[in-house]
Amino acid sequence: MHFKGPACRDRQGVKGGRVMMVRIKYAMLLFMLSMVPFVTGCAVNQSDIRGFNLISIDEEKKLGTQFAAEVEKQHQVVNEPEVQSYINRLGGRLLTGVKQKDFDYTFKVVKDDTVNAFAIPGGHLYVHTGLIKAATSETELAAVLSHEINHAVARHGTRQLTQQYGYALVLQLLLGENPNQLAQIAASLFGQAGMMSYSRSMESQADYLGVETMYNSGYNPQGMVTFFGKLKALEKQSPSSITKFFSTHPLTSDRIDSVQKEIAQLPSRNWAPDNASDFQRIRARIVKSY
Ligand code: ZN
Repeated sequence: MHFKGPACRDRQGVKGGRVMMVRIKYAMLLFMLSMVPFVTGCAVNQSDIRGFNLISIDEEKKLGTQFAAEVEKQHQVVNEPEVQSYINRLGGRLLTGVKQKDFDYTFKVVKDDTVNAFAIPGGHLYVHTGLIKAATSETELAAVLSHEINHAVARHGTRQLTQQYGYALVLQLLLGENPNQLAQIAASLFGQAGMMSYSRSMESQADYLGVETMYNSGYNPQGMVTFFGKLKALEKQSPSSITKFFSTHPLTSDRIDSVQKEIAQLPSRNWAPDNASDFQRIRARIVKSY
């Protein structure tokens, strides 16, 4: 007779719990899908950051840590204390203006001359050196970072990931059952040549929340409009440096118009002085060495 020890029973208990959770989540998904005919056609509430998501906050944190390790193998992180503390300060200030903070956010600068920044699940943000070089003020840099932070706040990454790859695969990644696949997905979404593309409604929500976050944290959101305008001009001068940003963030005039309309509705306020000297010092350092 084979005796199952307590360790074995515990493991089975954990696995049994997981299976139950999966069943519950599938049941929820089926229920939500059955509701689709009733909810389509309703206007999207841009402030609603709690869209349906099969992945729990804790699962997203775990997935984010795994993805971050992969991303940092595939990109060269700028490991300079001065640059790190600057980007932490900037990110920390923006976080004072977000709707909700579910994650322990991290901010890193990566060596890449293209103009871009990206968020991975679990609140890990990466800023390309090319974006710092292209910005002429901290407010402009904050504008792009604010948009990206809000992809994380509204948990667009895990929603997109489950849509694109299916819940079963994401669950396998979470359980650590498929490390090679995790590396491949990280490369195709967040690697050097990778591209995470969100839906149009996610993009416009990240703009909407991005403006609100800038406003709340004391950055003039008009910086988003001016920087988008500059990026459009850069597209003509140096298209390859901006291809990735434009393919994931089409800067249509509609998009800039809606940002402008949202700003016009905000009560006027005095803006905290832009952190010009720190920004220029860090930018000069990046231009010189990266
Ligand atoms: Zn975006």
